[in-house]
Amino acid sequence: MLRDRFHLPPDKIYLCGNSLGPQPKAVADQLDTELSTWRERAVEGWWGGPAGGWLGYSARARHGLANIVGAHPEEVTVANALTVNLHLLMVSFFRPTGKRRKIIMEAGAFPSDQHAIISQLKFHGLNPDDCLIEVAPRAGEWTIRTEDIVTQIEGVGEELALVLWSGIHYYTGQFFDIQAIADAGAAAGARVGIDLAHAAGNVPLHLHDWGVDFAVWCNYKYLNGGPGAPGGLFVHERHAEDDSLPRFAGWWGHRQSDRFQMRREFRPERGAAGWEVSTVPVLGMAPLLASLPLFAEAGGMSALRKRSELLTQQLYDGIAAINGLTILTPADPQARGAQLSVYVPGHRPDLEEQLSEAALVVDYREDNLRGSEGGVLRLAPAPLYATEEEVIRAVRILGDQLA
Ligand SMILES: *Cc1c(COP(=O)(O)O)cnc(C)c1O
Repeated sequence: MLRDRFHLPPDKIYLCGNSLGPQPKAVADQLDTELSTWRERAVEGWWGGPAGGWLGYSARARHGLANIVGAHPEEVTVANALTVNLHLLMVSFFRPTGKRRKIIMEAGAFPSDQHAIISQLKFHGLNPDDCLIEVAPRAGEWTIRTEDIVTQIEGVGEELALVLWSGIHYYTGQFFDIQAIADAGAAAGARVGIDLAHAAGNVPLHLHDWGVDFAVWCNYKYLNGGPGAPGGLFVHERHAEDDSLPRFAGWWGHRQSDRFQMRREFRPERGAAGWEVSTVPVLGMAPLLASLPLFAEAGGMSALRKRSELLTQQLYDGIAAINGLTILTPADPQARGAQLSVYVPGHRPDLEEQLSEAALVVDYREDNLRGSEGGVLRLAPAPLYATEEEVIRAVRILGDQLA
């Protein structure tokens, strides 16, 4: 546990790292390094400086990120933001042709993903009502059964162009069986993309071995890269040298070796870096470089996962004993990450503020899955900094405020 390596809001129990990770203490030094390079070298900072120049800035995150998402360094990079990367990768991997033009995703997905997918369908002149298939939980259930996902994928079969699924559902906290989804998508002849916004830095991932075509995530949730940190993207090695893939290109995706020869012809960098578009946002990305080493220092994702399972189970048992609350997140530890989502009946627009005043920082959203009168609290004891003692106090506060 590396709690003392973070600035945490004083006198609060911070269980909201699924929304914005807290600030690693090393961030200030990292930013200071870039500021002094800028101050002292200005443009020459691109080619030289304490760690070798900003030209290699996104490359400096690749090794750490690759370990976190289960990929080869060349399969990942940092650029843009999650939704932008989703658009860019759909340009490459959603290629509706003939009968094959449908997309499958989970029902109740994060709005930005829905906006991206619906607008991509319209961009291709397709009708989302016909071409977007959303797999929902069964009546009376909150989470989606793997068998239902696989059956739908098989049913759409040769009309399926893309499976776009989240690793962990932002609202219910369900951790999906990505291997099963990837296999079913590939067997149907479709491309498979995964949104890891709530999974990266939360649970162990094996993107390369699972064989998904692409993935996107944000670096400001469990990865603690700071508000609006540039996003992460993964492109499987089998596409690393496929220059025939259509893409919306920019000079930062051009091979670094001759980028500054300023030629008209676009030659993509091998691997994920070929999807970068614009100049790397050095100051925006600096906090991520301070945060990534903490994951290695904590022993990697499998060590963090062990600690996470303990904390989340402890929270689960505590909340389950409070009358009137329903935990939507699966009881099976393999089917969830750090986060628990708790259904609270009734209209409680002030609940988030009320809990914060009682020293518990969590988030609350109205029930947009079933449209009921109630709402959902999301609590995530992130294993890098949350403690068992905090979980016990959090449960006590919930009991006091909600019983
Ligand atoms: C947090 C989150 C986003 C945010 O997208 P940005 O482009 O970074 O603003 C998108 N999708 C999901 C599933 C998320 O959880």
